Amino acid sequence: MLSTSPNNFPSPVDLPFNRASLNENLQLLTPDQDPGGDGIWLLLQGLSLLTVTTATGQQLPQGKLPAVKTDTTPIYIGQWHGKPCRILTIPDTTTLPPQFNPQPLRSTEPNLPIEIISLAGIGLMIQHWEQTSQHCGCCGTPMERLPHEWGKKCPSCSELHYPRIHPCVIGLIIKGDEVLLARKAEWLDGRYSLVAGFVEFGECLEEAMARETLEETGIKIKNIRYLGSQSWPFPSQLMCGFVADYAGGEIELRDKELEDAKWCKLDQMPTLPPMRSIARHIIERAEEFMQ
Ligand SMILES: [Zn+2]
Repeated sequence: MLSTSPNNFPSPVDLPFNRASLNENLQLLTPDQDPGGDGIWLLLQGLSLLTVTTATGQQLPQGKLPAVKTDTTPIYIGQWHGKPCRILTIPDTTTLPPQFNPQPLRSTEPNLPIEIISLAGIGLMIQHWEQTSQHCGCCGTPMERLPHEWGKKCPSCSELHYPRIHPCVIGLIIKGDEVLLARKAEWLDGRYSLVAGFVEFGECLEEAMARETLEETGIKIKNIRYLGSQSWPFPSQLMCGFVADYAGGEIELRDKELEDAKWCKLDQMPTLPPMRSIARHIIERAEEFMQ
């Protein structure tokens, strides 16, 4: 039976989307290892997972290939609780039969346990890889699977391609009894979070954290310390979390990526990201980094 996600995570490793959340119930395998037969279905439509209502609550569909309109073929990803688990991508334009209930995976308050959210997150990353690796990036030839791997090989130019997971940095900047919070225009009204961004060529994580903070807010930082990381399947990031101290500068929105940035005291915080994000996990720990 599916129950609501908890709101408390002892360490970054325990956050949703990290494999620890699966409690070893997923044996990740590869499509060429599909044993055939009935199974458990990850039906993905956009950023929603489709569940079915049963006598014991919302469940992943089980059994034969679900009767829902799609022109894609199922992708076997491994064994979930000992049963074959496959992803089936449903086009956004497909009208769902009434038995399927879309569960938005980016919802602030998802109505699913973290085990299912995290399994669906792995499904989203695999789906993204499958959609973006159909043709060789070097010569455009349709690619072939490597046995027992998620990597693929181009039969024409022999180039090997492997799943791409993009490292990102995200960090809490401390200045006395205040923390630096930032806001993008497209976020929910009033929501603030931490400075974040993608790692660039030739950067280590700490350098990326310092550059992103300076570029986005005009603030220089020092004492950059790593705290932990979270897999983030929208579509395929690894969020690397840091805390750092203020080293100089005034807030100045330099690259227009942010709508606002400001220093906030812990008892005057605006709306924050959900507890299941590493951003919030780090913000919740802010007091221990203030001296
Ligand atoms: Zn090629």
